[in-house]
Amino acid sequence: MSHITPSRQQYLDVKAQYPDAIVLFRLGDFYETFDDDAQTAARELDLVLTSRPQGKNQRTPMAGVPYHAAESYIARLVAKGYKVALCEQMSETPINGLMPREVVRVFTAGTVIEPGMLDAARHNYLAAAIVDGDRVGLAYADITTGVFATTQFHGRRTLTEELARLHPAELLVPDSEHTLQEQARTVSHLPDWRFEEGNARQILLRHFGVASLDAFGCEQKSLATRAAGAILYYLQETQMGAVGQIQRLATYSVEGYMALDTATRANLELTESLGGERKGSLLGVLDKTVTAMGARLLRERVSRPLLDIAQLNNRFDQVQFFYDNALLRADLRATLKGLPDLERLTNRILSGKANPRDVENVKIALQAIPVIREQLAVSSEQFTSQQSPISNLQSLISTLDPCTEVADLINRAIPDDAPTNFNKMGVIRPGFSAELDGVMNSSANAREWVAGLEPRERERTGIASLKVGFNKVFGYYIEVTHANTPAVPADYIRKQTLTNAERYITPELKEYETLILNAEERILEIERRVFTEVCQQVAAYAPRLLQTAQAIAELDVAAGLAEAAANQGYSRPSLTNDNTLHVVNGRHPVVEQSLRLERFVPNDVHMTEKERIQIITGPNMSGKSTYLRQTALIVLMAQIGSFVPADEADVGLADRIFTRIGAHDELHAGRSTFMVEMVETAEILNHASHRSLLILDEIGRGTSTYDGLAIAWAIVEYLHNHPRLKPRTLFATHYHELVGLADLLPLVANYNVAVAEEGDKVLFLHHIVPGGADRSYGIHVAQLAGLPKDVVNRANELLHELEQHAPTTAVTPSRLSSGQQMALFPEASPLLEELAELDVNSMSPLEAINKLYEWKRRYVGG
Ligand code: ADP
Ligand code: MG
Repeated sequence: MSHITPSRQQYLDVKAQYPDAIVLFRLGDFYETFDDDAQTAARELDLVLTSRPQGKNQRTPMAGVPYHAAESYIARLVAKGYKVALCEQMSETPINGLMPREVVRVFTAGTVIEPGMLDAARHNYLAAAIVDGDRVGLAYADITTGVFATTQFHGRRTLTEELARLHPAELLVPDSEHTLQEQARTVSHLPDWRFEEGNARQILLRHFGVASLDAFGCEQKSLATRAAGAILYYLQETQMGAVGQIQRLATYSVEGYMALDTATRANLELTESLGGERKGSLLGVLDKTVTAMGARLLRERVSRPLLDIAQLNNRFDQVQFFYDNALLRADLRATLKGLPDLERLTNRILSGKANPRDVENVKIALQAIPVIREQLAVSSEQFTSQQSPISNLQSLISTLDPCTEVADLINRAIPDDAPTNFNKMGVIRPGFSAELDGVMNSSANAREWVAGLEPRERERTGIASLKVGFNKVFGYYIEVTHANTPAVPADYIRKQTLTNAERYITPELKEYETLILNAEERILEIERRVFTEVCQQVAAYAPRLLQTAQAIAELDVAAGLAEAAANQGYSRPSLTNDNTLHVVNGRHPVVEQSLRLERFVPNDVHMTEKERIQIITGPNMSGKSTYLRQTALIVLMAQIGSFVPADEADVGLADRIFTRIGAHDELHAGRSTFMVEMVETAEILNHASHRSLLILDEIGRGTSTYDGLAIAWAIVEYLHNHPRLKPRTLFATHYHELVGLADLLPLVANYNVAVAEEGDKVLFLHHIVPGGADRSYGIHVAQLAGLPKDVVNRANELLHELEQHAPTTAVTPSRLSSGQQMALFPEASPLLEELAELDVNSMSPLEAINKLYEWKRRYVGG
């Protein structure tokens, strides 16, 4: 131990405080990592791993990054899920031989504020969850926008759903919690006692300076309090206490929103496609916003459909206004386009981490407000005259606060094109601070004096080659060649001898030099101080600035949704509390955009109290899945306040949308997908209500034909007969047998996808029509897929033969009641069964022809 140097010991002490972080330790112009951290950093950042001697025969691994490039390295580590503790030198000079060093910031995925580490178009949530038996507390915060919310509820399923909605960058859980590991990209553990109610309450009360949590609505909500307290603690710890931007806490209830489980979010491709991209998602086609604030708000809305008709009608009114006023919409969007992110900027100022450019950008945002107000004022009059006043839009406009005092202040204080750091002078505009101007003036005078020195001295001494220069070691000097030495005046003091010249100084020159050099330091110091004061003054307006940012976001979203509606032919839906759904000429918002040569074929949906469950049969690739999803998306779009891709839509509010997609029979994560499918289906049956919308696509596919058919049959029966259920259901299936259900269950109706046959060709019309499909057209699909003509012809022959010999595939059980054995399945023909199970789409032509030869051998002989 005696070999350990003081700075090594200092490092080890810091590391002991942050054992789970990579410690970046400032040494001169570098941040160094040591030991295991160095191994990790070298591997993750492609750094050279070196080592430094550490006592006798000992070397410690070391890897470093230059201090000025640290941010990008930190960003990469954080993106990979690491925590990074930044340990700075706290002074210019060592104290007792050791540089004082402290951790000034801990970077984690959920707590970063640097624009380079954030996606401008989405929130960056830090979440905390505490599970106590069946009860759950969940809180989340985004320190870049000041959002801080908490809730509590029963059941882990809801927790999973909320986390799927929030998509947190980081999730905090107690040390003893090991079941939530999969729920976020980064999971961080805190000691259990950080989640204890007493501690959590205390930290919240102290931060907000209140005596009870009543004002936040969580006084009586122990789990919500515990989760919120843990978040606040973690923010304080990582930001070294500077969390001024967290100014309020909202307690919310999960019941106020449409619940969407993880599978449904994924299947409907709400914010990203199944391939993981924004393109190809609902958000991708809806998002026409032009500001970061608007983009974030729209993403929130898409993730969180509402159940409140009045609130949704307000949103529709706003969209309608911009839909009807196309010119105004264009003007507004042009003004908003590229507007600085007032929300995040304000929060950076509140956190004390803003740079001069940030503050200038606040001004730029504010200067646009009067323009926006003027643009909107003109047309809202226009609108009122159309006898359709939009009071909520007007109140929105009235919250657009130009904060003239702030804009003026910034304008006076901060120059245009302000720098993004403090290393150079020029952060504060001349004329703003008398103190600063004073120092600037005397510095300028001194510089002027020095600048005039050379001609003055040449004249005084008569030495025409006399030069005034500057270097880092000696400062300012006067240089005279050896030949002129005799002419040097008496007040020159010799400082340095060169080969052919001497350098001198004078006491006066040194005085001015000190003035200049001190002035530079003082100017930097004063500028920093004045800048901080300006930030504090701006911060005092934070509530008004944030309210304005919110109004900008809402206007941007409304105008953007109107733009999407106008460009893409959407119309305003009407919402009701009935459990019905009527859509005329509905389309799939994403698929219709992706079609190039073909036209999208619109379809109606009519679900009434009398017709709750629709069985949709039709060949592969005919458009069943598209129809199901578009119906769910139309309902969902209506419930986020968007116009919908249909000519007309009357949407009875859905409390939940469930989608389940039957799996292929591959193995997945150790469980068969069929098992997954059944678990998910069980969940629906347990949680759906009469008000839900169910999208069941080929449920039962992941098992053998008869099992699958039996399960599908039983599910429909259950949905139909259970008193709590009878939800609006669209069930697409390739089991033609299911069409028999309609005869037995009054609320079930059959639909199929129309097919046109032209000669021996089949055309999929993508049109949904009443009635069950009578054949599967599997062979026609094979033809479309490019199977050789001989194979297709032979298959048709075989099929024809088979149909002669076997009973028809559409079988209706004669009687059906529980307890009674149902005669659902005919005497099976093994060939038919095999044919039914054949996935023609996935076969190569060679496989298909081999199959045919095999059958021929087996069943026909020869
Ligand atoms: P299924 O589920 O019946 O196998 P899909 O819904 O997956 O069929 O549709 C297959 C393809 O058909 C889609 O990718 C799309 O290109 C096209 N399609 C589906 N519905 C329509 C429609 N209404 N109009 C135009 N093309 C459609
Ligand atoms: Mg399908």
